[in-house]
Amino acid sequence: MYRLEHWIGGALVAPERGAYLDAVNPATGQVAGQVAAGDRADVDRAVAAAQAAAEGWRRYPAAERGRIMLAIAAALRANRDRLAALERADTGKPLPTALAEVEGSAAYFEFYGSLVYLPAGDVLDVAPDQHVFTRREPFGIVGVITPWNLPLNQAARAIAPALTAGNVVVAKPSEVTSQSTLALAELAAGAGLPAGVINVVLGTGPEAGEAIVRHPQVRKVAFTGSVGVGQAIGRIAADRIIPLTLELGGKSANIIFEDADLDLAARESVRGFTLNAGQVCSAGTRILVQRGVYDRFLDAARTAAEALIPGDTLGPIITEAQFRRVQGFFEVARQDGARLVTGGRVAEVAGHPQGHFIAPTLYADVSNDMRIARQEIFGPVGVVIPFDTEAEAVALANDSEYGLIGTLWTRDVSRALRVADRIEAGQIFVNVWNTMSVQTPFGGHKNSGYGREKGIEALHHYGHVKTVTLRVDPAPDGRH
Ligand code: NAD
Repeated sequence: MYRLEHWIGGALVAPERGAYLDAVNPATGQVAGQVAAGDRADVDRAVAAAQAAAEGWRRYPAAERGRIMLAIAAALRANRDRLAALERADTGKPLPTALAEVEGSAAYFEFYGSLVYLPAGDVLDVAPDQHVFTRREPFGIVGVITPWNLPLNQAARAIAPALTAGNVVVAKPSEVTSQSTLALAELAAGAGLPAGVINVVLGTGPEAGEAIVRHPQVRKVAFTGSVGVGQAIGRIAADRIIPLTLELGGKSANIIFEDADLDLAARESVRGFTLNAGQVCSAGTRILVQRGVYDRFLDAARTAAEALIPGDTLGPIITEAQFRRVQGFFEVARQDGARLVTGGRVAEVAGHPQGHFIAPTLYADVSNDMRIARQEIFGPVGVVIPFDTEAEAVALANDSEYGLIGTLWTRDVSRALRVADRIEAGQIFVNVWNTMSVQTPFGGHKNSGYGREKGIEALHHYGHVKTVTLRVDPAPDGRH
């Protein structure tokens, strides 16, 4: 049994009120450890530590900041096995998925560490008697609130650009996946990051998370999570007039046209709704298939889905509550008249009778107004909807409250460009699903959120632009 404390001012700190939460391993269903249950008092301490570090970090020479970021990337890589093990203990995900997450997290620090050399502003040619320049400045303290599905990756995705932009951070991971974010903060300290630049407060959203958003010295919040919590945080941010990045849910369309490489499309479409047991915001769960290849697609997708092995290549659902919620959709699908192709049940995994495993599940003959086509299930469940024309595919894809990703499978480049142009989503993939690179801006339309993480674009969301205008006196001859 482990016990996790907050990471504040470069040290492990017990929660002020002495309360802890149980942490359950979802593969075994057993309590594996205890996690500090932080509240406002702990957030106050973390913010004070961050405030004490803010000015120093902001004034660090860029090259030194960059070197520390690269050292953090190296430390993450050097500890990849340990980090993957921590992530697996909290989430139960397969080893390759956990290792990929660690690599992605290191890549964020590497990428943003190299961006410290970007110009911090522009010179604007306004008039001869004015010298005008802009300069990017950090907000100060940034709150980073993250969910449980890709915990290390999501923490690194927000913390790395925040630090490059000169901010300091108070992070709160999901209370069910605290270990990897805490390890990141400790490894960062070992890599030379000054105390207080990253602080991690553990605990629940309503207690620790909300206290971060409400804290008067927190000047920006980067939130990844559900729509409901995003809205709640948005209301507080509106009252406080602080900027927010919201990375929320998805119900992404995955469109297969008749001219697609069907085997590839089927295999990748299944990966698109089963990766991380479907607990990915960008999962391609709404599979739109052109009528001429509909039956062949279903056959190929069923074969690919049934090849996954729960407990081995397919991990568990994160919590008991989420496990029950996913199962609830099986009844919903039945009521709404969807045809079950495969799955639709709990998967038995030898040696893990309490594990939260769901068999890969595929529904066919789904219409876009069924609840399984509209709501984010967050389990390994794909729904297949037939269509006839390109225009119909676009209309179906956009008929969703979400707009995170669109994936297209076609050999027709003109069609790919036309459809990519019309789909309301933050990113479009053609003949590949979700490459997850660090350079590509990532974010949503509609209820999938606003602001962008990743890429150079994200840096713009971690600072103000200040414009400085100087009057320039003329030379003694009266000329400028
Ligand atoms: P969640 O919204 O319940 O929790 C996310 C985080 O917010 C957790 O740390 C939680 O403790 C905290 N929180 C909860 N209530 C809060 C409050 N009132 N104030 C402040 N913080 C609060 O989400 P989840 O169930 O952990 O994660 C699943 C959701 O995350 C899904 O909807 C998924 O689509 C979304 N997600 C989005 C992205 C993306 O980049 N777009 C990535 C991964 C997950």
